[in-house]
Amino acid sequence: MTERLYYEDSKLFFFLARVTACEAGKNGFLLELDRTAFFPEGGGQPADTGFIGEARISDVHEREGRILHTADRYVAPGTELIGAVDAEQRLRRMQNHSGEHILSGVTHRLFGYDNVGFHMGAEGMTIDFSGELDEAQLRQIESMANEAVRADLPIRTWYPSSEELETLDYRSKKELAGAVRLVEIKGIDLCACCAPHVGRTGEVGMVKILSAERHRGGMRLTVICGLDALDDYRRRLESAGAVSRLLSVPQEKIAAGVERVLGEQAKLKEHAAALETELARRMAAEQAESGGNLCAFVPGEMLGEVALRELTNALADKCGGFAAVFAGSDEAGWRYIIGSRHLDLRAMSRAINAAIHGRGGGSPEMIQGRAQATEAELRAAVASF
Ligand SMILES: [Zn+2]
Repeated sequence: MTERLYYEDSKLFFFLARVTACEAGKNGFLLELDRTAFFPEGGGQPADTGFIGEARISDVHEREGRILHTADRYVAPGTELIGAVDAEQRLRRMQNHSGEHILSGVTHRLFGYDNVGFHMGAEGMTIDFSGELDEAQLRQIESMANEAVRADLPIRTWYPSSEELETLDYRSKKELAGAVRLVEIKGIDLCACCAPHVGRTGEVGMVKILSAERHRGGMRLTVICGLDALDDYRRRLESAGAVSRLLSVPQEKIAAGVERVLGEQAKLKEHAAALETELARRMAAEQAESGGNLCAFVPGEMLGEVALRELTNALADKCGGFAAVFAGSDEAGWRYIIGSRHLDLRAMSRAINAAIHGRGGGSPEMIQGRAQATEAELRAAVASF
């Protein structure tokens, strides 16, 4: 049996150990030690990574009481090596996990809800509670959790005797069989858990609820603690700072700044639409009436969809055949809208598309699509009908 050093000291990140077995596994070699500070995945907390001697350890898991380290190379049994756990990663996870216990204990105490799901991922933890929480209640549990952090309470872990266990009321009662390990934060929480934790609540630093949404009749909270919360704060300040510089407004007023810009944008859109309509009207007025077809070319993105339709309709009123409006360029290709007051364009669309190297369709009164041809070719094609 491997001695589990992470239970004796959750901040032991360097240790001396002897290799007891090493066999080929799925992702390299499975290495066993006489003692280890590497925590195998459990209780919602992912496995540690790090080095054992020169071997990089990418995963650790427990199988039938054995702790197997996934190593990138073979190490002969009997070798004595120094193990080095990725300390910062573990510390961040312990801050999050201990913070989760505090938050779950507080929520249970205040509202009687159970933690029914826990996941620790790269984007923070998710904690599922069995009941719904409103804004005020969320604020209350967050404040109380941070009070428990400031109180710097000891976090005690131990294996109680079965007699003692029967007298205790703790969370996660059903999940575990056999020897139950308890994690206690006096006055806040008592919970069965197999993961390493920080020694005192003060080390959690901060408990922050990032978001909360209704989930299966209860609530799913996304939460971060400690160094992860500091990193998140930095990222948010950075992005708020960038927005503030772009808008030239102080950070605390960026929401009003964005609102102002959106308002200006809406006005500009309205203004542009009015100009486009006027331009379409003048372009149509410039063309003489015709018994046959008419066409117009609009460079690039000069007119939007609405104005292009207005132009097509105005030209269709002036001709006996169809009116074709093309928007774009020879290089990028042309969008087309074709309208008619007299012809069935749907029936003609196959022939029209063939003549202009286009794709598209629509109604008897109007068809639209894209054409891959030059302006000269398109003029010739329109004239040929
Ligand atoms: Zn736990």
